[in-house]
Amino acid sequence: MADTEMLYMPDIESNYVREFQARVIKRKKDYIMLDRSAFYPEGGGQPSDTGRVEWEGGSAEVTFVQKKGIVKHIIEGDPQSVPDEVTGFLDWDRRHAHMRMHTAQHLISAVILELYGAHTVGNQLYADRSRIDFDRTRLADEDLERVKVRFDELVDQAIPVSVYEMDRKEMEERVKVGRAQLDLLPSSITRLRVVDIEGYDLCPCAGTHVRNLSELGHLVPLGRESKGAQKERVHFTLEEI
Ligand SMILES: [Zn+2]
Repeated sequence: MADTEMLYMPDIESNYVREFQARVIKRKKDYIMLDRSAFYPEGGGQPSDTGRVEWEGGSAEVTFVQKKGIVKHIIEGDPQSVPDEVTGFLDWDRRHAHMRMHTAQHLISAVILELYGAHTVGNQLYADRSRIDFDRTRLADEDLERVKVRFDELVDQAIPVSVYEMDRKEMEERVKVGRAQLDLLPSSITRLRVVDIEGYDLCPCAGTHVRNLSELGHLVPLGRESKGAQKERVHFTLEEI
């Protein structure tokens, strides 16, 4: 069985594909599989895209997209009634919010590594608020203000963001110490998709991001909390732009 070509993967501009033509190559009880798709499947702390598929004379809501071996587009209604040729439409407001939050997460992780040497160990993004977990650090409320000042300064510089592939070996040499847990990746992975906040941060990631930091707006820290002895959680959102 062929894989689904993920249309948001190759470069930063492909993250802005919100409408696409595709062929249905499999129909099951509650999902369809497409030969190509711009829908992001839940993963890496970023929620699934939603939207719809349309065809001559009909349409179906896409309520969830999941990658489990294959990429499954869960739809409302009967998958058997979906014809071979469809057009996919993302819920763009939701996806763009995830792109902003995901890029902001990279930037906050890089800033907190720069200012406090803390390593990111997890994150969960939503359209309206997000959180990041850091290892072995304790932050005070004033520290979040310092993070905001640095974050906003970088956003005001309107730094471009790019996405490309890199050899794992090169990545291991170039990534800042503590920025990515490359040792957790299976040794079979020799090429990585890299998100590059140009001149400031490099991190392997398969998610979706914005093309320039100016699309983020300024940071709104929502607070911090200690999760056990070893973990610090930071909550944030972004100013409306
Ligand atoms: Zn990312």
